[in-house]
Amino acid sequence: MKRRTDDTDATSKRQKVNREPVSYSPKTLQSNPALYDGNFPYFRQPREIGCFSLDIDREFHNDARQLRYYFPPDDTKRVKFDLTKGYEKYIKRDDDVKERLDILLKWVLANREKFNLHKKPETKEEIHTQKDGNLHTDFITWRGHLTKILCTPYENREDWKMAVSLFNGTYYISEVETEESRDRRKNMTSAHKEMTYWGYKFEQYVVSADGHTPPSTEDTVNNIEGYCTVVRTRLNENSLVFSGEVDCCRGDNTKPSKNYVELKTSREIYTDRQYRNFKRFKLIKWWAQSFLPGLPTIVAGFRDDDGVVTKLETYETMKIPDLVKDDPYMWNPSVCVNFCDKFLCFVKQVVQKDDPRCVYLFEWNPSSKRIIYTVHEDDQQTFLPDWFLEEMQK
Ligand code: GDP
Ligand code: MG
Repeated sequence: MKRRTDDTDATSKRQKVNREPVSYSPKTLQSNPALYDGNFPYFRQPREIGCFSLDIDREFHNDARQLRYYFPPDDTKRVKFDLTKGYEKYIKRDDDVKERLDILLKWVLANREKFNLHKKPETKEEIHTQKDGNLHTDFITWRGHLTKILCTPYENREDWKMAVSLFNGTYYISEVETEESRDRRKNMTSAHKEMTYWGYKFEQYVVSADGHTPPSTEDTVNNIEGYCTVVRTRLNENSLVFSGEVDCCRGDNTKPSKNYVELKTSREIYTDRQYRNFKRFKLIKWWAQSFLPGLPTIVAGFRDDDGVVTKLETYETMKIPDLVKDDPYMWNPSVCVNFCDKFLCFVKQVVQKDDPRCVYLFEWNPSSKRIIYTVHEDDQQTFLPDWFLEEMQK
């Protein structure tokens, strides 16, 4: 059963059927930037609480075995990295297989104790609640999903859909591929497909497996192996645990998370117009993605149309907003984070039923510029797997 709620749906069935007193829940959330233009909200410094690795079979390992090290070329302003090399050998993940939150949930199960220790119990009641299987975390999700939320006020092309279930007091957010993005993925031209390889090939040119051995650029590239960080933070009233893939770190073993580096590629910039578009559409995504886990540095390889990187540029994540400030055509980081805060509050108001089988689907598209939701109780959208639920009940 699918119930759509929008402004015209004044007599929602859900409200008629449900006689329990529920707090007032709004029907939509608008994403117009002007509505979120205030001070930057409280966002606690993200703290790494764990990490994990995925091997070539996409098997989970509760360790850093896949962490790679940044190994820059001698002269970053004069390089020649051919990103087209080896495309014929590329081992690509099957995008039809939807992993949803499964891998992250494996990490949660393997690290249950970390959810009890983040705050010392102060009262008898707290000591009690820390033994009840509750994770004391409002939201658990992938970093990439939050990046999308942050960028929504300024997005004008791609729609999104997020599934949310409330289980034991924690809201789990898992993205669902929209019809539009599925069509886009299925109709990619072969040239475009090849370009999605370039980003992974670039990584290979600048990372080392151990920090000492120079990059091995003859190896087969795959997008299956990976290394992810797990961080905890708080945005105003909402505590969050999320995980994101980390490309590499600067060679310092003592505090890897302070030395993480995000790698990007982008087309060479020649004109003012190209630079403005780069700042307006690309830097917002780069900033949001790295800001969330507190990742300090982004290294970008600028490439020509033939896929050859000619120079590297380093960006400090926290300084990216300086490049776009005072230009009304650009974007404002406060708007992004305020909107995310309001979205999380909206989710909390809407999602009332603590039941892992019940899924609330939140949808946004660039023409309506607002989030609507539907409620699904028929198991069609359920995404928290039984093995997770069973283990959590123990
Ligand atoms: P990002 O910020 O968009 O790169 O995504 P995250 O860092 O939050 O990644 C979350 C999980 O999704 C990790 O296990 C990634 O390996 C996986 N992932 C990231 N991008 C893609 C993608 O384009 N396709 C698929 N199937 N998985 C992805
Ligand atoms: Mg990257």
